Amino acid sequence: MPVVKKILFLAACNLTLSLYGQNYWQQEINYTIDVSLIESESSLDGFMKLQYINHSPDTLSFIWFHLWPNAYKNDKTAFSDQLLENGRTDFYFSDKEKRGYINHLDFRVDGVAAQTQDHPEYFDIIKVLLPLPLAPGKAVQITTPFHEKLPYNFSRGGYSGKSFQVTQWYPKPAVYDQQGWHPMPYLDQGEFYSEFGNFDVRITLPGNFLVAATGELQNEEEKRWLKINARGNMTGFRESQTKTLEYKQNNIHDFAWFADRNFVVNYDSLLLPSGKTIEVFSFYGPDKTEAWKNSIRFVKDAVVFHSSLIGEYPYSCVTVVEAALERSGGMEYPTIALISSQISEKQLPLVIEHEVGHNWFYGILANNERSFPWMDEGINTYYDRRFMAGKAKVEKPSPDWFQRKLPDDPLKFLLAVVTKEKSDQPISTSSEQFTRVNYSLIAYEKTGFWMKQLEDSLGVALFDSCMQEYFRLWRYKHPYPKDFQSVIEKTSGKNLEGQFALLDKTGPLTPEKSKKIKPSFLFSLHNSDKIDYLNLLPAVGYNLYDQFMVGALIHNYDLPANNFQFLLAPMYATGSRQFNGIGRAGYGWNPEGRIRKIEIAAGASRFSTLKGIDSNGNKIFSGFFKFASSIRIVFANKTFRSQVEKWLEFKSFIIGENGFNYYLKSTDSVAYPAKQPYSTRYLNQLTFGIVNYRVLYPYDAQLQIQQGSEFYRINLTGNYFLNYSTGGGLNVRMFAAKFGYLGEKTPAKALETGIYQPKLTATRGNEDFTYSNYFIGRNEFSGLSSQQIMIKDGALKLRTDLFEGLQGRSDNWIAALNFNSTLPNKLLPAWLPLKLFLDIGTYADAWQSNPTTSRFLYVGGLQLSLFKNYINIYAPLLYSSDFSDNLKTVPEENTFWRKISFSIDIQRFNFRSITRNLLY
Ligand SMILES: [Zn+2]
Repeated sequence: MPVVKKILFLAACNLTLSLYGQNYWQQEINYTIDVSLIESESSLDGFMKLQYINHSPDTLSFIWFHLWPNAYKNDKTAFSDQLLENGRTDFYFSDKEKRGYINHLDFRVDGVAAQTQDHPEYFDIIKVLLPLPLAPGKAVQITTPFHEKLPYNFSRGGYSGKSFQVTQWYPKPAVYDQQGWHPMPYLDQGEFYSEFGNFDVRITLPGNFLVAATGELQNEEEKRWLKINARGNMTGFRESQTKTLEYKQNNIHDFAWFADRNFVVNYDSLLLPSGKTIEVFSFYGPDKTEAWKNSIRFVKDAVVFHSSLIGEYPYSCVTVVEAALERSGGMEYPTIALISSQISEKQLPLVIEHEVGHNWFYGILANNERSFPWMDEGINTYYDRRFMAGKAKVEKPSPDWFQRKLPDDPLKFLLAVVTKEKSDQPISTSSEQFTRVNYSLIAYEKTGFWMKQLEDSLGVALFDSCMQEYFRLWRYKHPYPKDFQSVIEKTSGKNLEGQFALLDKTGPLTPEKSKKIKPSFLFSLHNSDKIDYLNLLPAVGYNLYDQFMVGALIHNYDLPANNFQFLLAPMYATGSRQFNGIGRAGYGWNPEGRIRKIEIAAGASRFSTLKGIDSNGNKIFSGFFKFASSIRIVFANKTFRSQVEKWLEFKSFIIGENGFNYYLKSTDSVAYPAKQPYSTRYLNQLTFGIVNYRVLYPYDAQLQIQQGSEFYRINLTGNYFLNYSTGGGLNVRMFAAKFGYLGEKTPAKALETGIYQPKLTATRGNEDFTYSNYFIGRNEFSGLSSQQIMIKDGALKLRTDLFEGLQGRSDNWIAALNFNSTLPNKLLPAWLPLKLFLDIGTYADAWQSNPTTSRFLYVGGLQLSLFKNYINIYAPLLYSSDFSDNLKTVPEENTFWRKISFSIDIQRFNFRSITRNLLY
């Protein structure tokens, strides 16, 4: 190390300086690590020696160590749990080969064997008990060998093919600061907090590997060779069987290294304004030669940009390295940043700017990232936006019709959507408590806007000098939010209490303005913070009776959502020559406390359900109209990350129907239909629902009470999905219903309530007594549309309309189980989404003496699920003899094709599901 650098370093290392009268101190850890890569096992063998200097005023009897490779040890770690919560099952179902761990540890403190204690909760944290107490101002030497099996790179490090990303790999003490110990399990969402010190790392590996690592390479010959290689003079396969590369870096808190045989290396030097020259490297795969050709320039731009605005880059080298990661984006380590191979050529300058920018925010200004992600990610995002704004405007082709409908700033738009839904969390939230979407929208983006607001309130020049002062006072230290606020307020001379109070609040940063109303064709998300759109689009519909229907759909289901939402779709039916359609209006709001959302709504619809030709030769139609009003309450969860939704809904239907009467005409003795007058009925329905949207074993259940003028029904429906480790899974549906009469049972009542009585076999269009499903033809007994069913009641997928006694219908109770399972994906080509189904049910009458059917009825067969499971086709292959015996009597119905049923399940559509539980 040159002398000048050493003096600078010592000045910065003055660890007990006084900041604004507070006696600041921090611990110091100096590492010497020898490590070998065992390529065939994707493992490391190492020996670590660290000097722990206790600058605290406290005597320490133990040190918490992070053993983060153990996060990959099994599916019971905090890391595994969090990945599942965030919707990923790949690690949970990964085989042993892809798991990772650290072992062969033998901690010695100043040569004396030290006892260890497991952390009560986390596999990847251990307590090393010091044989002798460590007094303030004293140091100890702690050594341990270690063996690490690298995991497959599920998160930030591991192996990926024959490429190695070695990060979070050595036993690393937790931070001990003014607030005490900070042990933390490794997480995918949520970063780090480590002590500053000096690193001296020697890496032994096969000679033909290229290595990119934290710090300065000490092997002059290797460095020369890298630089020659960078100019394109590949010297080819290197001679030695193995090599040992040594890297040193002072004043950092982490060390990462990356090894690959196929790296292309770029190199240049960069002269900083102070006159200091640093080395700039980039390493990437040969397939990225084109995309990464300007990578060195991007790194230089980033270093110059941050140096000029915040404070000069203090290290002697800076590196970016490309690797195949499961995630997009990148990951930063001192002096080196990893960039995902998923990053496109267009995204590369900004991603490099962001990751290199982390050398300032967390690299040098080392806040607790786990607890205060806004202090590194958010402040860094502010500089990303400033970097982009400062770039010369590239000539963009003028936006086309579609692009003009999209938000100018998609992240700002999404933030507004989440804020309007009141599912936002304060900026000051800890990483692991953020929802997946809020971690990026709040910790990054909202903080970026908050910083811009701070810049606006101070003016750019004053803001910049505040940030420079922050850098000067807190570099190589652990600032807390109050320290940041204190520097900004003292430097600017302003009281910024109000601005900083916003960090703990939800809601928009600036009060919402009232919006203008503007019509839009199809949709628009553009300037949605200023405009409410009335969206107009063509509407088309079809059913067998009305035939094609054309009309218009007008609605204000915008994003961010309006409190008052409506849609109106009047349609002219070309068959029935009448106006049909649907309409709905609702008012929803988000109260505070135990209720997340309340919506009051009313809807109406009208369609035809029968057609015929009357005795005069005129086409006649009859159908239904429906009014429904509802109130729906969605309950709040204890934590934002909860994936459970509980709701209660009361809905009341008024339905008018007019069927046909048939009468014989005297002249030809043919039965002709005539329209009946409308008769109306009502139905009240109270439903309590619970849904768990988790990705592993999701379930839902509804308890529903329905009541009409002559009956009541209690329905219990549940679904449970059992994931298979190889993908797909088994869905189990449970259904039970209790039916009863209001008042005395009479034969007339029993007949009239027929369609309301629960049944086991397939439910048909005429039995959809709330008109809640879409049917092509509700009242057909022949043709394709007669084969449509809905998943309701017992849901045995066999139509038994011809056999009154074979429907498993009951005016008492029924119960059923429905299984469907995906087939192993090796068995079938990807384009053939075939499943197996099996339905079993029983009903009250089957348990009486002399029942008409067996006690249990079953149907099994093949199911084809299309269009994201919205259309399902069922082919029964085996079923109860009760069914087969009767079907034999009607050979024309007993064919394979006639027994096939299908369901169109658009009523399953759910915004939270289609956004993969990201938005709700
Ligand atoms: Zn970042």
